[in-house]
Amino acid sequence: MAIVEPLSPTSEGRRRLGIRSPATRESVGEIVVNSQADVAGAIAKARDAQKEWARVPVAERAQIVRGAIDVLVEKRDEVAKTIVGETGKTHLESLIMEILPGCDYINFWCGRAVKELSDEKRKLHGYLRPYKKLMMHYRPLGVVGIITPWNGPFSLAMNPTVQAILAGNAVILKPSEVAPYSGDWAIRLLTEAGVPEGVVQTLHGDGETGAALVNGGVQKISFTGSVRTGKKIAAACAEQLIPYTLELGGKDAMIVCEDADLERAAGGAVFNSMLNSGHVCMGVERIYVVESVADEFEERVKDMVSELRYGTGEEVDIGSVFWDRQLPIIERHIEDAKAKGAEIVVGGEADTTDGLFYKPTFVRNVDHTMELMREETFGPIVSVMRVADEEEAIRLANDSHYGLSGSVWTKNTQKGIEIAKRMDTGSVVINDASMAYGAPEAPFGGVKDSGVGQVNGLGGLRGYTHQQPIIIDRWSAKKERVWYPHTAKSLEEIDGMIRFVYGTALKKLGFFS
Ligand code: NAD
Repeated sequence: MAIVEPLSPTSEGRRRLGIRSPATRESVGEIVVNSQADVAGAIAKARDAQKEWARVPVAERAQIVRGAIDVLVEKRDEVAKTIVGETGKTHLESLIMEILPGCDYINFWCGRAVKELSDEKRKLHGYLRPYKKLMMHYRPLGVVGIITPWNGPFSLAMNPTVQAILAGNAVILKPSEVAPYSGDWAIRLLTEAGVPEGVVQTLHGDGETGAALVNGGVQKISFTGSVRTGKKIAAACAEQLIPYTLELGGKDAMIVCEDADLERAAGGAVFNSMLNSGHVCMGVERIYVVESVADEFEERVKDMVSELRYGTGEEVDIGSVFWDRQLPIIERHIEDAKAKGAEIVVGGEADTTDGLFYKPTFVRNVDHTMELMREETFGPIVSVMRVADEEEAIRLANDSHYGLSGSVWTKNTQKGIEIAKRMDTGSVVINDASMAYGAPEAPFGGVKDSGVGQVNGLGGLRGYTHQQPIIIDRWSAKKERVWYPHTAKSLEEIDGMIRFVYGTALKKLGFFS
């Protein structure tokens, strides 16, 4: 039974999709798929609303948006119920992966907005400084399309939406068809907080609706999802010459050094491999442990994984696989690893009696011939490969077409930093993992197949603006020196200026840089 399945069309012939809970297989709702005409209508409405919204001072925008925290805190049980129902993740995971970060993102970006988005004076350098002044203006782009995946359906919708609207844009969110109402909560909460009608809207549907949004005449696409879809979106945006960010898949490596705190490393390995049923883009997917400490590390991992409880309700550690399409990928990777000599120490099979569960699994003796170490598995699996030393771990960590995040586990922070710098990946965490996106100060984005562009970071909000320099005269003169007519006198003046600025010791003193 599919988690998302076509239902009979509406009386007007519109496509409908039924949504089931992957944990119980019970129906949790349906969506009427928004057509190309709906997308066009939403964009037109957004365009009108955005003109007004852009005129609202940033501080006022931030005040309105911040109100969504109160609504979210008040409605957190309802929001969590939708998320748990649609995804099958545990209640606790809905708090730590969705609602807590949701509150934090709103709070953080509202706190930054006035400083980051207000007009700003900047000094010009060198010979220009005596003549000209520079002012930076952060112009909203217009209408931003935000397309999100099913694994973090609420927080991954809330974070970009809040940034885009604080910057004065209107947003159209197209959440994943697997968890549509979890994403829609972001829009509902912002609307309830007072964000004007049309400034935030949701369009429901699958790839067809997403593609219509991308091609519908928006001014930017913020996409989070798979590499395959990301490439299609990049091509469509390139064709229209509109900016985009792509936050794509990962195969994050965890390097366990000889001097790691093995209790913490084993706990971190299990948690960061299993969190959200393993459906975390920056979750741990590959573990390289130095041979000399591998016995103890693996023993600890085995004990921990053996004790994990999966299922539904409050007293479980791990929920279901979120989508039926992910389960065969997890199964294929495990079967391929087994066939190539990996040892399944714990788990290693699905349990589909009541819902879509995959048993918490620990695999060792894996290597890079196996899909489990090369492609995104996105399942509750700890995969451990022994390496001779840290050099081999770095080499193998970099042997991937992905490069989203990664982690180094050592008691020597300086060594950890040195290893981090050699990792060919978007971000690195020392003695923890799966958290780079959760620190909004940190620019987040992958290298290689893991994405294009970065989100978050101190310039995150400004990514939703056009940074418009306005250059102003310091003195009002009738003409500039380089304007016509060009005479021997103007030649001598410019030549003299070059000699003075760049031909003397002054430049070494940094006067003109
Ligand atoms: P997906 O690419 O299948 O779908 C993502 C979204 O794109 C959905 O809303 C989908 O309906 C829409 N879509 C599908 N085809 C489209 C098209 N042609 N044009 C426009 N939109 C289209 O990805 P998914 O399976 O929902 O998500 C899982 C993937 O997301 C994993 O690879 C995971 O690693 C990645 N992810 C990345 C990050 C990150 O920040 N880097 C975060 C979370 C998830």
